[in-house]
Amino acid sequence: MTLRFGVPNKGRLNERTIELLTKAGLDLGDDIGRKLYVKIKNQDIEIMFVRAQDIPEFIAKGAIDMGITGLDQVAESGHDLKNLLDLGFGFCRLSVAVPEESPARSVKDIKDGSRIATSFPKITKKYFDSLGKDVSVIVVSGAAEIMPYLGISDYIVDLVSTGSTLKMNRLVEIGTIVESQAAIMSSEKAMKGHGEEIDLVVSSIASVIAAEDKKYIMADVPKSALPEIERIIPGIGGPTIVPISGSGDTVAVHAVIDSDQAYRIISELKRVGAKGILTMPIERLVD
Ligand code: AMP
Repeated sequence: MTLRFGVPNKGRLNERTIELLTKAGLDLGDDIGRKLYVKIKNQDIEIMFVRAQDIPEFIAKGAIDMGITGLDQVAESGHDLKNLLDLGFGFCRLSVAVPEESPARSVKDIKDGSRIATSFPKITKKYFDSLGKDVSVIVVSGAAEIMPYLGISDYIVDLVSTGSTLKMNRLVEIGTIVESQAAIMSSEKAMKGHGEEIDLVVSSIASVIAAEDKKYIMADVPKSALPEIERIIPGIGGPTIVPISGSGDTVAVHAVIDSDQAYRIISELKRVGAKGILTMPIERLVD
């Protein structure tokens, strides 16, 4: 049975998701933008392009077996899904914000009967219920920030990443409901039917992410410098030392390093007499 994988068709999560799938070897072909679904070449996987917001529901209903969406959307859906991998992008938080001139400086200051505009009604209601506050939730489909100024609500609950949109609209964040990022989600049921294929997709994507901030470094070093080299390059399991034919006192050193350490490592390698230093990007790092 074909594995159905839901991917955000547009919006903030779309571009990086496509990049990750492509790097993981899932060939989406051309004109992805216009297609509703694509069949991956040589694999029994279908990518369905749908709204990030619909993905939790589609997984829960079994319409797709897995998908990439924001944890905020998963929380709002109320479905009990399985988070298979946090993807390290699409970071944001669902927060309570009040107009600058409001005396409320903490969610505790919000009074019963307050009107709260949000496009996340379920989770907002649940949050205020848990605080024992009886607020009135006003559902909007976007631009919640403007609602207090239109007199439609007293406060808002909305997604924040840098906070600059709130600031621009003279709102102050006073509490966080959910911290979010993009994640690969599935369900217990889909894992039963497609566990192996899902694990393969997840581990391919994980291997791409793991490789992105690493580099492969190679250098020819004098044998006498080897004790120093092991201190300079704390590679995965230590550097690999390879003999160079016809060169008795020089060996080749290979290692995987953190990209942000490359400058330091290259400088120190040169200092201990390394020659022919080169670094290369790594496509995948499989455990
Ligand atoms: P979309 O509405 O399709 O652009 O996707 C919105 C999703 O992007 C949200 O559900 C979040 O998971 C994520 N996201 C990340 N940062 C933000 C932000 N600053 N505002 C809204 N959504 C964000």
